[in-house]
Amino acid sequence: MLNHSTKTAFKFIRPDLAELLAYSSHGEDVTMPSEVDKLDTNESPYDLPEAEKEQLARQYQTIIESNRYPDGSHEELKSAIAQYVNENSSFPFDPSYISVGNGSDELIRSLLIATCVGTNASILVSEPTFSMYKILAQTLGITAISIPREETHFTIKRGQADHAIAQAGAIGQGVKVIFVVHPNSPTGNLLSAAEIEWLKSLPEDILVVIDEAYFEFSAQTLVSELPEHPNWAILRTFSKAFRLAAHRVGYCIAHPQLTQALEKIRLPYNLPSFSQAAALVALQNREQLLSTLAETQQERDKLYHFLSADSRLQVWESDANFIYLRLNLASREEQHQQQQQLVKTLHQQGTLVRHTANGIRISIGTPSENERTQSHLAAYLDKNF
Ligand SMILES: *Cc1c(COP(=O)(O)O)cnc(C)c1O
Repeated sequence: MLNHSTKTAFKFIRPDLAELLAYSSHGEDVTMPSEVDKLDTNESPYDLPEAEKEQLARQYQTIIESNRYPDGSHEELKSAIAQYVNENSSFPFDPSYISVGNGSDELIRSLLIATCVGTNASILVSEPTFSMYKILAQTLGITAISIPREETHFTIKRGQADHAIAQAGAIGQGVKVIFVVHPNSPTGNLLSAAEIEWLKSLPEDILVVIDEAYFEFSAQTLVSELPEHPNWAILRTFSKAFRLAAHRVGYCIAHPQLTQALEKIRLPYNLPSFSQAAALVALQNREQLLSTLAETQQERDKLYHFLSADSRLQVWESDANFIYLRLNLASREEQHQQQQQLVKTLHQQGTLVRHTANGIRISIGTPSENERTQSHLAAYLDKNF
């Protein structure tokens, strides 16, 4: 360790970064027991099956040359993704509509660079929502305008959104990008018909990013709307239903003019050969890998019925692989404190869940993990309320 005093001024570092925290998915103060149910990051509870791992291992032994840079064009992967996307699209997308990234996080950053960096433009999000849009915008010095969702169904307060867009425009910081999640995280709700109409009504000089990270769970997609709305972009990921969070592969479906801009911005070899191979293996075996979706939906519905029958909880229906809930307490402050305590206790018992946006998000795991979630939660509520 170099012996710099804390007074050493690292004047070359942007001062606004002092306000930000490095991302930590499990929170700051959590010491995890060795055996835990990881229900705080919405991954699949199932690893790749043995046969696919062997297929991948064989490719590593025979095809992948570790001394060579990866395929920087991603052509094979983009073709396979386009085919998969087209299974649920009325418009046949070719690979020029696809761009792949090191997780969809990289694509979010590339979209921000392509639209806002070096200008006064801002982005708009409606919270609670996925935190990375705002975090990545801040790291790039881009203003993120946040408007609330209404508290019953977590729909976007469209009047406030329109007002914020007009105001930002009036002071020369026009909104260039709106990020929405379909279904939203952490709240699990799909975009409503009225919200989709609103997105369609937005001026074409605003990019509308629709994040479909949970598409496989919801079976709902807006891809068929893309040809009509060239100012829309859809994000998807292999990190959730496809069980490849370790490999960091996401993709964007958008008009070729936008994907070409993303191609200019990304690092030349953004996706390691092994990750490209993993995504291809996952797509080739998609029927098998996605065969667990029915179980996840059943388990989600079971957990929802269990939780929503408890008057000490406020629980929302979900179209994704997680459930959002709050303790039924009148005071916001007490709610926050009690929820913190609850989440901490669950962690100590080996059930990791996420405390976010003054609520608790619980991923759907295996049936036995979900049973433990139920019993840990019920025991805590009986003891404390
Ligand atoms: C999990 C998740 C992602 C996935 O990000 P990756 O970088 O692809 O792992 C993207 N968007 C949302 C809303 C998510 O919940």
